[in-house]
Amino acid sequence: MKILVPVKRVVDYNVRIRVKPDGSGIETDNVKMSMNPFDEIAVEEAVRQKEAGVATEVIAVSCGVEKSQDTLRTAMAVGADRSVLVKTTAVLQPLAVARMLQKIVEKEQPDLVILGKQATDDDANQTGQMLAALLDWPQATSVSALKIENGKAMVTCEVDDGQEMLALTLPAVITADLRLNEPRYVTLPNMMKAKKKPVETTTPEELGVPVDSRLKMLKVAEPAARSQVQMVPDIATLVSRLKNEAKVI
Ligand code: AMP
Repeated sequence: MKILVPVKRVVDYNVRIRVKPDGSGIETDNVKMSMNPFDEIAVEEAVRQKEAGVATEVIAVSCGVEKSQDTLRTAMAVGADRSVLVKTTAVLQPLAVARMLQKIVEKEQPDLVILGKQATDDDANQTGQMLAALLDWPQATSVSALKIENGKAMVTCEVDDGQEMLALTLPAVITADLRLNEPRYVTLPNMMKAKKKPVETTTPEELGVPVDSRLKMLKVAEPAARSQVQMVPDIATLVSRLKNEAKVI
């Protein structure tokens, strides 16, 4: 059983995001980049399935600039067997990524695709859903537990009013939630070993996928500064101040 894991290179989650002075985007020059945190969870889950003898091969794929190779190396250091880089300098939107992933899926024929539930840069939460629709495969989003048995993926999904248990017939697409697992630390020896694992490179043109933007970003702005927070000693004071000062209750 093959598992495909799409991984995105994003600004590291510890970095304080700075908006460019002209509002055209965020600063990425000299900024630490890492694997999207939800994708770390997706890779960890795929590798655990391999370690449990359920999966036989884990393939990581990333669409983006040459440097996305670093993200693929990290995935291989965790345990992915090989990777595919779809190299492009274009600004990618979820539909273009989903279309490229569809082409890779058609070539690789995985039984399961595990994506992150969302990328922390665009927060789109769309790529997995679009990929499932393009492939016409069953999908489960925000998955917090996964068990594969008898050709089915038994999953628990985090939904607004609790949890939903689903049985998906493979092949299927799932997206990983924060609670699915706790990713392991990547060790230096494993990082060295990952350097020997194969990375195949292709391009959107070779895959026949147009990457032109469907959406136009008008402006990026800093969030409005929060008004000063005031601590109150107890609930009675809170209620009294909401009533008498803020006059909201
Ligand atoms: P999004 O729909 O942009 O929030 O991203 C959801 C998930 O799609 C991510 O967690 C990744 O697993 C995958 N994904 C998005 N963009 C890329 C990309 N450029 N390369 C590889 N995977 C991606």
